[in-house]
Formats: sequence, C-alpha cells, structure tokens
Amino acid sequence: MTQEPAKALVTGAARGIGAAIAFALARDGFDVLVTDTLAEDADAVVREIRSRGHRASFARLDVTDPTEWERVLAAAGTLQVLVNNAGISGRGRSIEEETLEGWNRIITVNQTSVWLGMKAAAPYLRTSGRGSIVNISSIMGIVGSADASIAYQASKGAVRLMTKQAAMQLAESRIRVNSVHPGYVETPMTAVKEDWSSIIAKTPMGRLGRPEEIAEAVSFLAGDKSSFITGAEVCVDGGWTSQ
Ligand code: NDP
Repeated sequence: MTQEPAKALVTGAARGIGAAIAFALARDGFDVLVTDTLAEDADAVVREIRSRGHRASFARLDVTDPTEWERVLAAAGTLQVLVNNAGISGRGRSIEEETLEGWNRIITVNQTSVWLGMKAAAPYLRTSGRGSIVNISSIMGIVGSADASIAYQASKGAVRLMTKQAAMQLAESRIRVNSVHPGYVETPMTAVKEDWSSIIAKTPMGRLGRPEEIAEAVSFLAGDKSSFITGAEVCVDGGWTSQ
C-alpha cells in the first residue's frame, strides 16, 4: 500500500514568502494546504504547484479567527507541519505615531494568530507522531531598528519566545517548534518601499533576500533532516543580526 504524503499547512501562502514556502514544501514531498484570505491568488499558487506535478489544495483561513482554524483543520483531518507565516507590516510607525487600534491589529495578526494556530494544530500534530511547527518571525524579532514599527517589533519578538515556549511544552508530544527570522526580502509587503539603497548598504551581504531563500530554511526545519532541532531561531538575513 502506498503511503499518503504528509500534510503541511502554510498560512498567508497566496503570495510572497508564504507562496515560496508552499512551493518548496510541495517540491519536498508534502501535500500542501495553501491558506490565506486572498482566495484568487492562493488558488493560483495551488494550480502552479499541481502543474509541477506536486500536491496542494486551498482553504480560506483568516488566522485571527479560532473557528476558522478549527474548521480548516477538521476538514484536513491530519497534519504533520504547520507554518505560521501570515503577517502584516507596521508601516514603520514609531512609539508616538502608533494608535491603539493599529497596535491591536498588528498584535492580533502577527502574534495572537501564532498561538491560535499552534493551539488548534497541536492535537493533529501530536497524532502524526512527528509534528513540526515553523513560525515566521523576523530580524525585527531579535534586534531594534530606528525606522521599524514598535508594534511589529513587539509582535515578532513575541513570536520568537512563543516558539521556544511551545518547543518546551510540545517536545514530549514529539512536536518540534522553531522560528525563522528573515532579513529584508522583496515581496508585496515590502513593495511600498521605493528606495532600498540604505537597507542594502546596511546588509553585510550587500543585497536583499529572495523568498525562495527563506523557504529553503523552512522546508529544512519542517522535514526530518532537522529531527533533533527544536526551540531554535534560524536567521536568513545576509548577516544583519550578526553585526
Ligand atoms: P506579504 O504581505 O507579501 O504576504 C503575507 C500574506 O499573509 C498575504 O497574502 C496576506 O494577505 C496574508 N495575511 C495577512 N493577514 C492575514 C490574515 N489575518 N489571515 C490570513 N492571511 C493573512 O508578506 P511577506 O511575504 O513579505 O511576509 C510573510 C511573513 O514574513 C510575514 O509574517 C512577515 O512579517 C515576515 N517577514 C517578512 C519580511 C520581508 O522583508 N518581506 C522580513 C521579515 C519577516 P492580505 O494582504 O489579504 O492580508
């Protein structure tokens, strides 16, 4: 009897880094559940994965809604990998510019959703016997930056430590939990920025990252090649956090 491929759920996978993660996981043998609120773009990702001969399907999932998490996971039935990637930018708002509404929105989408996802997925990952969660944080979850948003920084720093806490609590269930910290990557999220020259100048490797470079690290942490790695933070940042 042929074994069904392991299932991997990626949030915010309609475009940018999430789409690249979906492509990499599908290439590496996972049956990928491409989730997002952007149905049309997510569907295009699914069609592209299938045209390459791999497996994928789409489910609408707003990561801030616990009932949507329950519905999507119940429909999936099994899960081996969860990638919490969906996120929004803080548009560089400073301590004084940020509003309570803006703060709450960023914390809900970038931070609370990661807890909601891990909470909903844990029973499924436990049953799989070798689950893996990869949370997408940021270099902004490790170091400060004068032109970054206070709320974004807070949310990404929390994702870093929530990852370590979840790694402690889920190790007994054979679920590994790790975070990936991208440096600056050109995606629809960052497309609003017109001039990258100062960022490039500050990056030791002298360039922006590509979504595919983040995806390779995620796929490594998702699969069995990283079987003894949990609670780790992997920076894919051209050296940004080492300076
Ligand atoms: P994009 O904006 O290109 O993609 C993010 C995706 O997440 C979009 O499709 C977006 O859809 C979706 N999304 C947003 N809110 C929700 C929600 N509530 N429920 C479900 N999906 C949602 O961003 P990137 O690809 O650049 O970023 C991906 C992750 O990587 C984010 O967590 C980001 O913080 C992180 N990151 C990005 C860096 C970069 O330089 N690009 C650097 C470091 C970290 P919609 O627009 O409709 O909301």
